[in-house]
Amino acid sequence: MAVERTLSIIKPDATKRNLTGKINAKFEDAGLRIIAQKRIQLTPAQAGVFYEVHKERPFYGELCDFMASGPVVVQVLEGEGAIAKNREVMGATNPADAAPGTIRAEFAESVGENSVHGSDAPETAAAEIAYYFSGLELVG
Ligand code: UDP
Ligand code: MG
Repeated sequence: MAVERTLSIIKPDATKRNLTGKINAKFEDAGLRIIAQKRIQLTPAQAGVFYEVHKERPFYGELCDFMASGPVVVQVLEGEGAIAKNREVMGATNPADAAPGTIRAEFAESVGENSVHGSDAPETAAAEIAYYFSGLELVG
């Protein structure tokens, strides 16, 4: 399997509860390398551009407000099959459906406040990485 890069976000519900280190340990234990990382505060408009694909969904407004409700940690994870591997470590969107041991099973508060974001395909990963990071910030 090819080495891939994927965009991960530790969401405000998790940064608020000091879970950044515990979540990063899950990524590293799964063989994902954190090759770029920064803690930032999004505006609702910036979150809205990032989640534009969901703009017709009923939860869009709430999602944008939530993502701007506190700091987020945006990161690039690298490894063999990193996109699917990260989705596996994250667990299902709704924590009630997330497999035991996954980030969302252990830490998520609800389907909306679910602790982490991860890209879902190579094209979205490339676009999402470019939204938060310049090429100079990706040192491998
Ligand atoms: N979301 C929500 N309600 C829903 C479905 C999704 O609030 O019924 C939020 C949740 O924070 C989720 C994000 O919207 O992580 C993006 O949804 P997606 O279906 O892409 O899930 P993900 O890829 O994050 O698992
Ligand atoms: Mg998604």
